[in-house]
Amino acid sequence: MQRFQCYINGEFTDGEVRFESIDPATGRAWAEMPEAREADVDRAVEAACKALHDGPWHKFSATQRGKLLYKLADLVAENAGKLAELETRDTGKIIRETSAQIAYVADYYRYYAGIADKIEGSYLPIDKPDMDVWLRREPIGVVAMVVPWNSQLFLSAVKIGPALAAGCTMVVKASEDGPAPLLEFARLVHEAGFPAGVVNIITGFGPSCGAALSRHPQVDHIAFTGGPETARHVVRNSAENLASTSLELGGKSPFIVFADADLESAANAQVAGIFAATGQSCVAGSRLIVERSVKDRFLRILKAKAEAIRIGSPLDMATEVGPLATERQRDHVQALVARSLSAGAGLVTGGTAPEGAGFYFRPTILDCDGSASPSLDNEFFGPVLSVLSFETEAEALRLANDTRYGLAAGVFTQNLTRAHRLMKGIRAGIVWVNTYRAVSPIAPFGGFGLSGHGREGGLEAALDYTRTKTVWLRTSDDPIPDPFVMR
Ligand code: NAD
Repeated sequence: MQRFQCYINGEFTDGEVRFESIDPATGRAWAEMPEAREADVDRAVEAACKALHDGPWHKFSATQRGKLLYKLADLVAENAGKLAELETRDTGKIIRETSAQIAYVADYYRYYAGIADKIEGSYLPIDKPDMDVWLRREPIGVVAMVVPWNSQLFLSAVKIGPALAAGCTMVVKASEDGPAPLLEFARLVHEAGFPAGVVNIITGFGPSCGAALSRHPQVDHIAFTGGPETARHVVRNSAENLASTSLELGGKSPFIVFADADLESAANAQVAGIFAATGQSCVAGSRLIVERSVKDRFLRILKAKAEAIRIGSPLDMATEVGPLATERQRDHVQALVARSLSAGAGLVTGGTAPEGAGFYFRPTILDCDGSASPSLDNEFFGPVLSVLSFETEAEALRLANDTRYGLAAGVFTQNLTRAHRLMKGIRAGIVWVNTYRAVSPIAPFGGFGLSGHGREGGLEAALDYTRTKTVWLRTSDDPIPDPFVMR
């Protein structure tokens, strides 16, 4: 069995308690992880706090911080193969995707390396004589980062990159379901030469480790990605330390197909939107809203594509759909499909777990027209597509917005003016027109409503890791006049 360590204050540590990590493709334990408990969380936060205020880090120029980030980016690129294999092994996400995604993660670090010395303050045209006033942008402080199991290197890069660019220090809690890639990434942070305590990486369970971290009195900001229910715990925890929060949560994203769309292209995007990453994607296009006149034709194309998908070992480059990350997740998907079928949804394809070991579930399509299927409101975080049809553009928009989530949406049409109307009318943080599931370090990412708030990616994300300080400098040498009048 492989053994992994936490990274606290520049040192690798086993911790007193360990737990086994399960390979989702076999259902068997393959590695031992250190379980961080409250005392470990305290040590990690104290190290981050010390590094922020007393260590060499706060004396680094922004350009020096950028140089370290460039180094980290190069190390991620050089080690992408190994990191991808660990992520695939520990979470079941197919190697085809982890290899490509982690190679791209290096570009996120590069992007924020370049931004480090472009975070500028400002000078204010103040309305008083003999006074210079300006705003400094300072790091927000010690950041607690809590991430879910899927795409951990990506979801942590969009936090670690901008936070380091801004000069923050941090404690990153890897998910207990598949922490191997982030714990391995800690070795690259160490090799890049960040001073001790700037980046601490631990793992442990939500109600113990995650809770202790998010309510810690020395934490200034919590960057959380996960489900809305957990987010409520995190926000309640933040009532203790009054830390600010940014929340990237789940979704029930609409994928709208009009009759004039290129149906073949839309079907490929729909497959990418719901079956890639075995549907364990926050932006999964899980509600297909298709114009009634092409519904049957579009479903025929989709069904054929879904049934041709190669299910297999996630470590095989030819595999297209691997297992879900945990048994709990597979059981959740299975139970929600069963409830949806009982509520009247029609089974187009899939709906079952294949025989054999591992937490697999077949790509599934549910026809939900005329039913109140729970699949329409509840996030599966699995390979299950719910289908509704519409007659008019207004109906399509109403169905698209009929959700408390608001992360992403896809619109497929050749009609330019309609695309513009929908792009404005849809209540979601990301709208893709004639494409889906495209991301970039340059483009902000985040949601509305139950999908959370805060934006990751782009320049603003780096500014979100800063706070302003207003500095007043009196330029007159005359004595201060009447002390009883406010200046
Ligand atoms: P989760 O909410 O169960 O767990 C996320 C993290 O929170 C884990 O590290 C967990 O240990 C921690 N946690 C659990 N309880 C906690 C508590 N009481 N206090 C503090 N931390 C706690 O999420 P998951 O099941 O691992 O992941 C799936 C969810 O994540 C889905 O809802 C998915 O849509 C969402 N997600 C969102 C995005 C996005 O960017 N918007 C990206 C990926 C995943």
